[in-house]
Amino acid sequence: MTAEYDLKSTVRTIPDYPKPGIKFRDITTLLGDARAFRRAVDELVQPWAGSKIDKIAGIEARGFILGGALAHQVSAGFVPIRKRGKLPHTTVRIAYSLEYGVDEMEMHVDAIHPGERVILVDDLIATGGTAEGAVKLLRQIGANVVAACFIVDLPELGGAAKLRAMDVAVRTLMS
Ligand code: IMP
Repeated sequence: MTAEYDLKSTVRTIPDYPKPGIKFRDITTLLGDARAFRRAVDELVQPWAGSKIDKIAGIEARGFILGGALAHQVSAGFVPIRKRGKLPHTTVRIAYSLEYGVDEMEMHVDAIHPGERVILVDDLIATGGTAEGAVKLLRQIGANVVAACFIVDLPELGGAAKLRAMDVAVRTLMS
């Protein structure tokens, strides 16, 4: 049994959620398993062990859960990337594409100092529209986006390839 198989077996698939025909990959079961949660956190940032990371940027909402743990792991600060209207201070905002339509995400304008080395994190990458928007937003305020990490990749939807084409290293734990 490989490490990947172990971790993969802790992610639950919910058929027909949130809409008929969609298979939702539910990572709450991974998070609830102490060994799997620790292993996922360790493995996500393993390539950057020993290199200086200034900030972990997490995408609302599951990226917050992973992001706090990753920030602790690499001794970095944590920066939330949120849906429009949730952050109290001055923000920068970007529109990004979803499967059907567009949405907007924001971060505090002073959350990152120019040149800081940042790792982006979310639970899953599908088309990459969300992560692409987050990378653009981070770069807009001068971040050096070193990598983007996800527990689950849906490679047939092309998101990881899209990020690599933007010169972002992509780390995923299962497909
Ligand atoms: P993308 O923008 O198409 O790459 O979709 C990724 C975003 O949608 C991430 O913020 C994910 O949390 C969310 N998402 C899409 N499908 C799933 C799923 O099956 N499980 C959990 N999150 C999902």
